[in-house]
Amino acid sequence: MTILLGDLPAVETEVFSTDWPDSSESVQRSLASLSQTSSSSFQVLKKERCYFPNEGTLHPVWNLILSINSLPYETWADSEHTYKVSRLFFDLSEDVQGKVQAYEANPKESKLQTFLIGLIGDGTLTSQFFTTDPSPSSSGVSRARSDTHEFIFSPDSEYFPEASVFAHVSSMYDYFASLGYTWEGGKPLTVRIHATINDTKNNALYQPSDGTSLQRPIIIIGDGDNIVFQNLAIDSDVVSHEFGHHVIFRTVKETTGESLILHEGLADYFTFSKHGDTCLGESICVPDADSGCYVAGQCLRTGDNPLVFQGDSYLKLDPHLKGQLISGFLLDLHSKIEPRTVTKTVFSSLDLLVKNSGIEHFLVSLMLMDYKQNAGNSACVIYESAIMRGFKPLLKNVDCADPQTLKASRDANTLTTEEKPEPQKKDPVKVRCGKIAGIASHQGEDFSLAILFLFFPLCVMAIAFGKKNFLRGPFLKKSSPPRLPPKNFRY
Ligand SMILES: [Zn+2]
Repeated sequence: MTILLGDLPAVETEVFSTDWPDSSESVQRSLASLSQTSSSSFQVLKKERCYFPNEGTLHPVWNLILSINSLPYETWADSEHTYKVSRLFFDLSEDVQGKVQAYEANPKESKLQTFLIGLIGDGTLTSQFFTTDPSPSSSGVSRARSDTHEFIFSPDSEYFPEASVFAHVSSMYDYFASLGYTWEGGKPLTVRIHATINDTKNNALYQPSDGTSLQRPIIIIGDGDNIVFQNLAIDSDVVSHEFGHHVIFRTVKETTGESLILHEGLADYFTFSKHGDTCLGESICVPDADSGCYVAGQCLRTGDNPLVFQGDSYLKLDPHLKGQLISGFLLDLHSKIEPRTVTKTVFSSLDLLVKNSGIEHFLVSLMLMDYKQNAGNSACVIYESAIMRGFKPLLKNVDCADPQTLKASRDANTLTTEEKPEPQKKDPVKVRCGKIAGIASHQGEDFSLAILFLFFPLCVMAIAFGKKNFLRGPFLKKSSPPRLPPKNFRY
């Protein structure tokens, strides 16, 4: 009798390779996966050939035990991939409690606060979910380190922006966890700051893990040039909005049309609902500047708006600003239904969406989730609020009192006019985001997939075509008009 307590690897091939990858390249690949550079202090404690099963194939790899900053890690890697990483110091060092200082929300209207955050204990701002990268090679700012795990820096310290994004993104994670979110996929997510994005410091973006060679998601934030925007790294709304994209991206993966409008509106909504306000980025708009803030000098975007679906004002807006209709509609509900109940219903409704869901699917999923979680008590309040926002054409066959009718009338794969990618403006000089070229490769990551920006309409089309073609491509010429995504755009 054979008893198996666990899984046997599913391997189809019986062909064993005699070619082994270069061991030093495997070490470098492992270090990169652990967010270390070759200059980090490390030692190879063990190096052994073995096969690693992956997707039905046995890959010849190096099984390594590396000591990095005196902490041991075990990896399985070849020169191209790191297949698995394990920390070997669970017994030595449980997560430690770090103290990280940042503004409670932003420098304009809140005080400094000490956030208590579980860290892995390697002396950097790294938890099991997040790590930081202050772009030292271009910014000249080194990474914050603390043997006591206290990262209490004053606002004029070079380390304050790094501590701020880490505190704020960890706090946003806690908020989503309180709604039922559990992490899926690669981690830790890197938050890179002091970055230049398409030649500008005035933006921020989220990129899912599939788009990076390290298979880990990343948020990149510029500093702002203090002419257009400021405080991008120390205002909690910026990193909170970007992390919202990470959570929503579990189900909605399109970055065009109504899916993009939903993404932006929902990422704004969760940021608003966490902080209990309706203004996005209170401290990032430069006062008196025509900087692209929807409420000049005050809010990048606002949930306090009268937008109506397909109304004249709505139709003139780019997808980021159209998202205000979604956040505005959801905030309408806060005056009619207990706000925490609304937020929980919105969060749960994400599970019913698919990669290219649109606004109709979202409205129906909200009412369905209300039936599931609240016995349908608020389904007709949601319906009436949706009608007030002009969504009647999307809900023609829906009776909010009858859950049997809560179906989307059109397939998620059917594009309506609204869902088709926006026609691109021809004159790039008038485009606020300037060039919409892709992001230069950094630390071996290929920016080759969906990218969700904090703002600017045309930047959302920044989808690469493979690094080499991309760098040579027409995006780099200022005179070239922006292009639509290629047909093989994966999301
Ligand atoms: Zn966004």
